[in-house]
Parts: sequence; C-alpha cells; structure tokens
Amino acid sequence: MADRYDAIVIGSGPNGLAAAITLARAGWKVLVREAQQIIGGGTRSAELTLPGFVHDICSAVHPLAVASPFFRQLPLAAHGLDWIEPPAAVAHPLDDGSAVVVERSIELTAWQLGPDANAYRQCMTRLASDWERIASAILGPPGLPEHPVALAKFARLALRPASSLARSLFKGAKAQALFGGMAAHSMLPLEKAPSAAFGLVLGTLAHVASWPIPRGGAQSISSALASYLRSLGGEIVTSAPVKNIDELPPARAILCDITPRQLISIAGHRLTPRFRHRLAKYRYGPAAYKVDWALEGPIPWRAAQCLRAATVHLGGTLEEIARSERAAWQSVHTEKPFVLLAQPSLFDATRAPQGMHTAWAYCHVPHGSGYDMTERIENQVERFAPGFRSRILARSVMPPAELEGHNANLVGGDINGGVQDLGQILFRPTRQFYCTSAKGLYICSASTPPGGGVHGMCGYHAARKALKRLRA
Ligand SMILES: Cc1cc2nc3c(=O)[nH]c(=O)nc-3n(C[C@H](O)[C@H](O)[C@H](O)COP(=O)(O)OP(=O)(O)OC[C@H]3O[C@@H](n4cnc5c(N)ncnc54)[C@H](O)[C@@H]3O)c2cc1C
Repeated sequence: MADRYDAIVIGSGPNGLAAAITLARAGWKVLVREAQQIIGGGTRSAELTLPGFVHDICSAVHPLAVASPFFRQLPLAAHGLDWIEPPAAVAHPLDDGSAVVVERSIELTAWQLGPDANAYRQCMTRLASDWERIASAILGPPGLPEHPVALAKFARLALRPASSLARSLFKGAKAQALFGGMAAHSMLPLEKAPSAAFGLVLGTLAHVASWPIPRGGAQSISSALASYLRSLGGEIVTSAPVKNIDELPPARAILCDITPRQLISIAGHRLTPRFRHRLAKYRYGPAAYKVDWALEGPIPWRAAQCLRAATVHLGGTLEEIARSERAAWQSVHTEKPFVLLAQPSLFDATRAPQGMHTAWAYCHVPHGSGYDMTERIENQVERFAPGFRSRILARSVMPPAELEGHNANLVGGDINGGVQDLGQILFRPTRQFYCTSAKGLYICSASTPPGGGVHGMCGYHAARKALKRLRA
C-alpha cells in the first residue's frame, strides 16, 4: 500500500467501485477500503446452502446495469463480465394456471394481454422510443433536463401512484397485475407516487435493454469492476472497516459508499450541525426478507412459460400485490407477501451441479422486522408451482438483521439505501446531493441520485462532482 492517495473510497459496492474507477481514469491515485472480507457490497455471491450451489447474496437480475451509461463505457467484458439474456425478462403467473411473460418484443408481450394489448403496445412503444432521451434525466445527475418534452411526457405517467395508473391504463386483471409487480420494486405502497415510475422504467428496460444475469453470479460484476480498477492502478483493501474518518491517510477527496446514518457515525464531527441534522432526518424504508434454495430440479411451475424468464413475480392480482406492499409500510406481516423470485441456474450452468438448481427470493417486510416469513414465501411459490417444496435440498434464510450484518448499508434491511418517495428522489440525501458540509468529503452510495440498484451512476456522478470541484 502506498502512503499517499489522491482519493479514498469507503466501501466497495458498485457505486464505490464506480467512483474509484472514475477518479482513477482521471489519473488520480485511489484506495478503496472495504469493511467485509469480500468486495462487492450488494453484488456478491457465495455458496450459501450446499457446496457447488452459488447464490447471489443481494442483487441477482440487472436491467439497470446493462442500461447504465457509465458501465457501458467500461471494458468489463475484457475483465470477465459475461451477461446472459434469458429468453424472457419476467414471468407473472396467475391463479388460473396461466402466466404473462414479458418478452423482449413489445408486440409479443402485448398480444398476451387481451383487451389491453393496444394500450400496452402504445404505452411501451412510446416509452421505448423516448428511452435514450428520458434515461439521461432518470440516470443522470440532478439538474435541468436535456430533453424536457420527452421527460414531461414520461413524468405525466411516472409521477402517479402505480395502482391508479394501472387501473386507468388497463381494463383487464392480467395487465394490471403485471404492472403492479413491476412497480412493487419501488418498495413503496402502490397508492403512493411515484411508484408508477419504477414500473414504467423497469417495464421499458425489459424491451430496450433486457433483464440479464451475469455468468457466475453478481460477484462477477464486482470482480470485473475491481479488475479494471486495479488495471488503472487503483488499490483495494478488504476487512478494513472505517470506524472514524480521522484514521484515514490524508487525501484530496474522500468518497463514502455508505448511507447517511453511517456517515454521521464515522464523520459526524467534521460536518456542520445543520448538515448533520439534515442527514439525521433522512428516512429508511421497509426491509427485504430473503430466502435462497438449493433445489434438486427446476421449479415445477404450473405455467411452463415461467421457465423462460430469470425473474418471476409471485403475487397474483394487482390488489394482492398492493395489499402486500401497503402491509410492509404499516408494520404488518401479510399472509400472502408479494415475492420476487430469480431462477438463474436455468440459464447459467455455473450456478449449481448438473441437473440441480438454485432459486433466490425475497419479500418486503416492515423495517427491521424480526418475523419469520420463510413459510409464507414458500407458500407463495408452492401456490404457483405445486411440488416446489419437495425439490428443496437446503435453504438459507436472511432476515433484515442478517442482511444488515452482512452489509452495514442495508439499514434495518432497507435494500435501497433509503426510501425512494418523491421527497427523497428529488433531494437525495439532501439538497446538496453528493456534497457534504465538509470540504473534500462526498457521499456516493445508493442514498444519492439516482438511488438503488446496480448501475454505478451514484458513484460516477459523485466522483465527477469531486473532480469538478477540485478543478474549480
Ligand atoms: C436482497 C437484495 C436484493 C437486491 N436485488 C437487486 C437486483 O436484483 N438488481 C439490482 O439492480 N439491485 C438489487 N439490489 C440493490 C443493490 O444491491 C444495491 O442498490 C446496490 O448494491 C447499492 O450499491 P452501493 O455501492 O450504493 O452500496 P452497497 O452495494 O451496499 O455497498 C456498500 C459497501 O460499503 C461497505 N461499507 C459499509 N460501511 C463501511 C465502512 N464503515 N467501512 C468500509 N466499508 C464499508 C459495505 O460492506 C459494502 O461492501 C438488491 C439488494 C438486496 C439487499
């Protein structure tokens, strides 16, 4: 290790690594300090159940990573990252034994939606053709939009609650349920704005970018980022938690891939009381309750089309999904949670021994919940795939506290680095975005724009801000 750095990045999640790469590409000497033994934060994989079964501990499916303007600039394939695009993005099974499958083709998806085929086709065709224009605002740094007309058209729909948009766009239960499942990724009640935005963005990405998985698991994303960073001269140390910012060697900038609560804990004494107070008011949201399974065979879906997608949304109707998302906000543990499930080994043979499979799932529960949701999650899988339980060889369960133990950024089990409602999307985590009240101290995690997900854009924008300020 050198004894002088231009910048130190605290945390090696995708945003920390993106920040470090951006600075290293500008010629800076960069050190990344990671608390855990393994790099990657929310992009890590491990044999959580049995030897030979590789599970993604956090992120599994990556539409935002392949759509990320920053990741797209990087030579990640040359550093080992290999994206696999399953034949379909998402499957949404229904109680009558059928399923809606989101295909890359808008037409083939619309065709499944009966009376709503036309409405889906029109809505998605317009969003897909506007995507490059609206993406710069959605994934870009806060500021004046480059394409205000396209953005205004998107905002007219996006700034609505998902359930009211689903009901006004679509008449039939299938299309409404499909949209509800997409929007529930927001971890907002579907009656709250802007939950529709998440459904529209993720739905559009299924058609313009795909919902891919990385060969070998999410760890391959962080390994490729780290390998590229090292090729630029960047250094990474692991098992090196930063407990107090004063312990770091001098540097021109410190970028923190951590959330506001942790920033107060390690650097509160360097912040003004006013800024500290603003950070302290930052809100965290509901949690994830996660289960991984080693399976002796594929999930026996009643609707066989579910085997064509890596992601399956289990929640039946819009009403049921909305009830589940509302419950997590009202400190209720619903009997029928909306379950987000991934089945990567169907498309990536490196994840499990031959003929066997892995599955990954989580549901949303109240912040910090200690309630055991395993049986309820498995009931939801069994409902759409009778016989599922008999294929389980082993399971790993991660309640919110365990998630947070594994990664301090998952405060109370919140996987987005803080609530993503209107207030905290517009000003995240404060009106100063990546900057803090301390000179040279920046925040670059999912608690800054554009928020949660594996895309690296928070880190990229924070690093650009640091470079710009230093040049100024
Ligand atoms: C269960 C689950 C499922 C998810 N599924 C998906 C998905 O399918 N697709 C998707 O796009 N996103 C998904 N996400 C979200 C995604 O993982 C996060 O949004 C993303 O990882 C955020 O990146 P980050 O760099 O901001 O922070 P993180 O990835 O959380 O990284 C922060 C890093 O900082 C380290 N750190 C914290 N404190 C310190 C300290 N004091 N000193 C040193 N190091 C420290 C942590 O150990 C960690 O490595 C999921 C998350 C979870 C938990």
